[in-house]
Amino acid sequence: MNQQQVITELQTKGLNLVVDAAAGERAGNWASDLASDLGVSGRKGGAGPSDHKAVTVGKTTVMVPVYTTGAAESPYAVRQDKETGKSTLTYNGKAVAPIDFPRRPRFYQLKTANGVPYWKIALLHSHNVLATTVLQRCIRYDNRTTACQFCAIGQSLEADRTIAQKTPQQLAEVAAAAVQLDGVENMIMTTGTPNVTDRGAAYLTDCAQAIRKRVPSLPIQAQCEPPDDFEWFAKMHTAGVDSLGMHLEAADPAVRAKIMPGKARVPLSYYFEAFAAAVRVFGRNQVSTYLLAGLGDSKETLLEMCDR
Ligand code: SF4
Repeated sequence: MNQQQVITELQTKGLNLVVDAAAGERAGNWASDLASDLGVSGRKGGAGPSDHKAVTVGKTTVMVPVYTTGAAESPYAVRQDKETGKSTLTYNGKAVAPIDFPRRPRFYQLKTANGVPYWKIALLHSHNVLATTVLQRCIRYDNRTTACQFCAIGQSLEADRTIAQKTPQQLAEVAAAAVQLDGVENMIMTTGTPNVTDRGAAYLTDCAQAIRKRVPSLPIQAQCEPPDDFEWFAKMHTAGVDSLGMHLEAADPAVRAKIMPGKARVPLSYYFEAFAAAVRVFGRNQVSTYLLAGLGDSKETLLEMCDR
């Protein structure tokens, strides 16, 4: 297997880090010990990529599922040499390739002046990306008739692993520390949807402005639903947002209505208008979307949407 195949295998099958399955289950945790011992901790629940852990294969660091049922049954595991501390990826017990885990970042040890740990404000993804959910609440989340069925934005808040709202000043402070102490090279800000007008664009603009002022060299990606007024794109860009993600998640209108009934009220046609308007501001290759395979879209629909 070449490196790319190893990465694809790991991302689809996950990495089984349960040392002793019985002990793991007794602890109520699929990956009880090894997952937290190896490098920076993975992340359970939350917005964006979760239940994953950063794994380095060759020179590429990717997020690999470790806290999922599939990962607990994966043929891929890790063997660690106690003397050298080096890790080897195994497939059904046979060595496949050397792998590594990014270390816990130094900025995780710090706190704001009023005692909020920096890791509750933003987390390290991969080995050089600072990621945060600026508003951890969403108008769609608490109501069954509007919530997206795949979303776990409220879980990390309930578990006290984050705070409901990160202020622009807190984000700027953490970004500065992450760049200085851990060599972070770019930042991603997503948000729960706070209203049905700007849909988070206004608050992301405020946050980007504060971060850009404090750390001018840090590229920023923002993610939100398409705002009601496309003027927000220019405001976000002027504030310091370099690229924008507006995430379709599902492509077929019937799947959207079933899986994400609130978000589906913003129709596909509006997303395409928003993509075109955003490209005029941010430039080509600076506007992106996510499609989540497995929500009900057919392969053909997904491929058609990717082509478009
Ligand atoms: S719009 Fe959907 S996916 Fe986004 S935060 Fe709200 S409930 Fe979650």
